[in-house]
Amino acid sequence: NNTYISIGTDITSKINEQIELKKAKETAEASLKVKDEFLANMSHEIRTPLNAVIGFTDLLLETSLNAEQRAHLETMKNSGEILNSIISNVLDLSKLDSNKLEIEYISFNLHKKLYEVVKLMKIRADEKNLSLQLFINTDIPTQVFGDPTRLSQILLNLIGNAIKFTNEGSVTVKVHLVEDSDKKAKINFEISDTGIGIVSNKINTVFGAFNQAKSDTSRIYGGTGLGLTIVKKIVKLLKGTIEVESTFGKGSVFNLNLPFEKDTSTTSKVVEEVL
Ligand code: ADP
Repeated sequence: NNTYISIGTDITSKINEQIELKKAKETAEASLKVKDEFLANMSHEIRTPLNAVIGFTDLLLETSLNAEQRAHLETMKNSGEILNSIISNVLDLSKLDSNKLEIEYISFNLHKKLYEVVKLMKIRADEKNLSLQLFINTDIPTQVFGDPTRLSQILLNLIGNAIKFTNEGSVTVKVHLVEDSDKKAKINFEISDTGIGIVSNKINTVFGAFNQAKSDTSRIYGGTGLGLTIVKKIVKLLKGTIEVESTFGKGSVFNLNLPFEKDTSTTSKVVEEVL
């Protein structure tokens, strides 16, 4: 019977197709696992001696040195730290791509965290003679539930970039409420700079992996083009949004919106610190 044969062939080819698909999926999963394990092992193997290099450079910096020796050692330490952050980025990206990056959910003082992040970055801004300012609107809740480590990571990246790509002027961080209810708050973090800006035809590519708005940017400013890719993926995991507006030659504005749950069980004080 012709009809029977044709249905049978159809089913067989469908089954074969499914088997092939399953095999391909398993192969892809297996290679992803191998890649993750390789990256984790390599990072560990690189980090251990690297931390020794950074640690001993630090020790040497505490001894009496002439200006030239000090400058060389500082370059050495900086390079080590850059290498360390590249390793962290590659590891984070690999975890994000295999859905293994864990998000914390704890209660923390948001104001305190913001001052902490900006204070860290202030050192870098001072080195370049840039002003770095933080404005927190009074309506921003103090104690919230969320992931303070990932929030710092995002902000350190955005503020770090703003400082890196600004040669004179200022970097400003403004924090205000976008939506508010009894339990939830959607918060906007605006990071603006008076830096080099981004050309309009490259603005859509800055969140893509290994993308730098200008091919010569990496040579002048350093960087791997992974920071914003990771930021975008973490923001998505946190159910937030991130956008950028920029005028080439004038500066850039990154707008980050993140939802938080308010922690009303503790009454923590609003901190205000001198930066
Ligand atoms: P990296 O800074 O390591 O190159 P990122 O992913 O953080 O990588 O950024 C990608 C690119 O986006 C940068 O190389 C730069 O061209 C552009 N960029 C990011 N932030 C800014 C900024 N604040 N001002 C100007 N250009 C920026």
